[in-house]
Amino acid sequence: SNDRVFNFAAGPATLPESVLKKAESELINWRGSGMSVMEMSHRGKDFTSIIQKAESDLRSLLDIPSDYAVLFLQGGATTQFAAIPLNLCKPDDTVDYVVTGSWGDKAFKEAQKYCKPKVIWSGKADKYTKIPAFEDLEQSPNAKYLHICANETIHGVEFKNYPNPKNLLVADMSSNFCSKPVDISKFGIIYAGAQKNVGPSGVTIVIIRKDLIGGAQDITPVMLDYKIHHENNSLYNTPPCYGIYMCGLVFEDLLQQGGLKEVEKKNKKKADILYEAIDQSNGFYRCPVERSVRSLMNVPFTLEKAELEGEFIKEAAKEKMVQLKGHRSVGGMRASIYNAMPLAGVEKLVAFMKDFQARHA
Ligand code: PMP
Repeated sequence: SNDRVFNFAAGPATLPESVLKKAESELINWRGSGMSVMEMSHRGKDFTSIIQKAESDLRSLLDIPSDYAVLFLQGGATTQFAAIPLNLCKPDDTVDYVVTGSWGDKAFKEAQKYCKPKVIWSGKADKYTKIPAFEDLEQSPNAKYLHICANETIHGVEFKNYPNPKNLLVADMSSNFCSKPVDISKFGIIYAGAQKNVGPSGVTIVIIRKDLIGGAQDITPVMLDYKIHHENNSLYNTPPCYGIYMCGLVFEDLLQQGGLKEVEKKNKKKADILYEAIDQSNGFYRCPVERSVRSLMNVPFTLEKAELEGEFIKEAAKEKMVQLKGHRSVGGMRASIYNAMPLAGVEKLVAFMKDFQARHA
């Protein structure tokens, strides 16, 4: 509706208005059940149908092979930073981390508690503006897996193709999940917090090859053990029911749009016009990320006249474009343009940027 803003937040992020309206229409009485999804038993037939439909729609969207399990979990992607080494490693096992930004770094640091992770490549010296070529990586001989962050939300670097490690590839896809097609069979585990592309916070999705389930360390908390969640179809304890329902509505919407190939086309178009505006500003705006690995989802940029940043944010907010401030660790601006950001939102931002430059150059 008219009083909604264009929300460029990195997450929780904007959701499709059509999905919010559908949820609104079903809020107090879900499809004749006489109650809200928030009030239903997670073991009743209504919620069972909701979680099963969400899973099967996600399977269609990503073409998930049958030898992979889909788990709907809690605790955010951050919990997976621990769950992954706990489930895949013994305490003395080596694992490799490619660190392309703050999130990969956090994942590495958490893994240090549960196994022997090694950073085999870090972009830190280049302020996390690059992704390594796979040939440049030297894997540890006995590493159990290679961990990457497919899209670094803060720094705006995104893998455009994936390494083929000799062991397993594990990827944090929190901020580009369902933004484009992915060959799931290349991965051992893909995990993502929902709150950027597919729903509200509180739901974490894990896609895991089934043969990797069942080897958790003895100290693994029950809530972090993939085997427990898999055997119980993500209903070992009370799941985040409403969040899963919302993710389901988003999956339906993405399928209706024609699936992830179509979604990727739209995302490319949005990113293209924004990066073009930055690159053609004669240095007034600048994106530090190497061109070939620029994220389609999170677009960080700085103003040559840094003293204008506050003004930029204030004026944009007046025009109903909000949450453009960069992460506190890097400063500058960041426009997050996930699936649900309409092209009109990006076009409006680009027009504003040109006008702002004309007035302040
Ligand atoms: N990984 C990435 C790439 C992220 O963007 C985030 C959240 N911004 C996280 C992990 C942490 O996710 P959560 O807050 O769901 O634990």
